[in-house]
Amino acid sequence: MKVCVVGGGGREHALAHVLGRSAEVVVSPGNAAIPGSTATPPEEIEADLFVIGPEAPLVDGLADRLRSRGGKVFGPGADGAHLEGSKAWMKEMLVRAGVPTARHGTFIELEPALSFLDTLGGLYVVKTDGLAAGKGVVVTESLTDARETVASYLSGEAFGDAGRTVVIEEGLSGPELSILAVCDGQRAVPLAPAQDFKRVGDDDTGPNTGGMGAYSPVPLASASVVDEVMENAVEPTLAALRAEGIDYRGVLYAGLMLTADGPKMLEYNVRFGDPEAQVVLPRLASDLSALLLQAASGDLRDAPQFVDDAAVTVVCAAEGYPGNPRTGDPIDGLDEAGARPGVSVFCAGVRTDDSGGLVTAGGRVLAVTGMGPTIRAARERAYGAVDCISWPGMHHRHDIAARVDGTARSDSADN
Ligand code: AMP
Repeated sequence: MKVCVVGGGGREHALAHVLGRSAEVVVSPGNAAIPGSTATPPEEIEADLFVIGPEAPLVDGLADRLRSRGGKVFGPGADGAHLEGSKAWMKEMLVRAGVPTARHGTFIELEPALSFLDTLGGLYVVKTDGLAAGKGVVVTESLTDARETVASYLSGEAFGDAGRTVVIEEGLSGPELSILAVCDGQRAVPLAPAQDFKRVGDDDTGPNTGGMGAYSPVPLASASVVDEVMENAVEPTLAALRAEGIDYRGVLYAGLMLTADGPKMLEYNVRFGDPEAQVVLPRLASDLSALLLQAASGDLRDAPQFVDDAAVTVVCAAEGYPGNPRTGDPIDGLDEAGARPGVSVFCAGVRTDDSGGLVTAGGRVLAVTGMGPTIRAARERAYGAVDCISWPGMHHRHDIAARVDGTARSDSADN
């Protein structure tokens, strides 16, 4: 089977790596470190299956265009991808499907938005309706900051059109958990849970990022929590989408908070998480290309199986990230890191320079995944390999999965 992966980041590198166990893989556009990368656009590639990685081409209708030529595509059409393209619509669907979520309101005008803020107490959450590269969410205890954020979003000053509609919601508290489900339009099967780390600095300090690391399995996510989320959130959402005439074939990524009142949905994404994919996919014991082809064909049969080994991934970022990253720094030690046992290096922001060497080309440059019999062992492998890699200004978190029960195994976590 020939599979075309669309995208060029660490998630797509992980997809290509794991799909490559059983399929011939091309990646469009990929990057300088992903084997099979091609500049040919996906619309001009013949493949048995297309797997679309990032949200932007999904929201833009790439899956529809490929399907209209008869292609089998893993990834929702523009209608389903609207779940991620519009937080206001996502909230409407959650309410329609009866999925527990934070109390919220959607606004296009300042005065009603400010009045709604006054009804919330304690923690204020302001979100852009549209895509803002993971940067459009402000969580603050300060009413003044919340008011200023709303004003800067609605005026278009902060995020242009993406912010001219805002979603305001009550702040929830509790541990966060991501559950990724593979859907075929009718049915959904869960992948192993993962947890990611959003803040740039150790101990969850500094600004939010696209994600600085992740681990899987998650001891907190017992089989019963996963079942509850599938039953009370993912399946009703899929049914609500169907009722809208939306045949959702792809990943439904549930971002949840485990509150004192039970799991509540913060958001849906319409694709694999990055860096969650870099820990979930390498743990697959089942054949990924067969699974995604079944989903793309509306014919999901088997729930995916995972190995007991744990995985931890550490993202290495460029100087300046998550602000303006510096690019062009030469990267050393990749081969040595990747040759260590139980280690895979997934590259994102990289390119080759004039002399053929690999240099940085983006904020999140690469993710180093370690696997081992326990989370502690996986963590040691990941950080051992990170220590082999260097470039001027490279930074990473030192505490990814550090506070998880280090002896936890996936078998004791029931997933
Ligand atoms: P989102 O893009 O909606 O997942 O929001 C990004 C991050 O903001 C989440 O991972 C949470 O850490 C935080 N967040 C979003 N909504 C809430 C909320 N209602 N209460 C507390 N934190 C939130």
